[in-house]
Amino acid sequence: MTGSVAAEAATRGPADEVWTVLRLMRWSGEYLEGKGVERGRLDAEHLLAHALGVGRLQLYLQFDRPLERRELDRFRPLLRRRAQREPLQYILGRAAFRELDLHVNRRVLIPRPETEVLVEEVLAWARAQRRKAMSAVDLGTGSGAIALSLAFEGPFTEVVAVDASAAALEVAEENVRASGLVDRVDLRRGSLFDALAAREAFDVVVSNPPYVSEAEMATLQPEVGEWEPREALLGGPDGLGVIRSIVAGASRHMAAGGLLALEVGAGQAGLVTAEVESAGGYDEVRVRRDLSGRERVVLARRAMVAENVTRLEGNA
Ligand code: GLN
Repeated sequence: MTGSVAAEAATRGPADEVWTVLRLMRWSGEYLEGKGVERGRLDAEHLLAHALGVGRLQLYLQFDRPLERRELDRFRPLLRRRAQREPLQYILGRAAFRELDLHVNRRVLIPRPETEVLVEEVLAWARAQRRKAMSAVDLGTGSGAIALSLAFEGPFTEVVAVDASAAALEVAEENVRASGLVDRVDLRRGSLFDALAAREAFDVVVSNPPYVSEAEMATLQPEVGEWEPREALLGGPDGLGVIRSIVAGASRHMAAGGLLALEVGAGQAGLVTAEVESAGGYDEVRVRRDLSGRERVVLARRAMVAENVTRLEGNA
């Protein structure tokens, strides 16, 4: 019997067996864990709450509630999808990121806690500049998570969000509209800096680029490797291809004194730092670790251009 048939048979059950909330939660959690889902019970609770149209914690007040047939009919396909290792966020169509609740589907990468750290660093830097209006470009915006967070939480009044995928931009557009930040976030289709005008420069160039290598692609858990967009993950044979392109092009689109902020893969921070240093024009490069202690974010401050400094001194 295949998994989905088993799920169907079991959640249908013999006619005289009543499926209560608790019984279904327990059974489904174990079923998902048997399929290799890491936190099967938690995910089962999210899916059941979604099917019933209640908050997850509400389930705890309704353990003995018997489920109606149409409720089971709504739940069963969701459970089946998760058993096939489709990420929970795609099934629910939502992902939490910092202060936002974003629409997601499988055309965009699911925003991760690591990327929340990247945004936190950019926001901290921006606040320290003590300016009222700043600009940023987010390369490979996907769902729009980074661009929207900068506009929502920080002094960013002008954020250009670029993606090569039209399908991803549709998701981002829905998130921009829902957030009410239409005036601050400008979505553009294109490959990295190609989406910008030649002389367009920003206070911040930020990206969570694809950085997985070809060898690592094969090792990703099914939720990532089989479901998330390959073009948002794979950074060329060694994983660093897109990062190199960003480092090479950033200087032409950064304001003097601006910040380059990149999320990088485990083990890449040293190489990326070297890449930035050899590109030149930066006066400080540092690395920030993520919540699991991995070097995850490379930050580089663009030097003040010499002629600007001279002119400022001349005016003083
Ligand atoms: N962090 C992602 C992972 O878990 C990769 C995201 C990316 O390539 N930017 O594989």
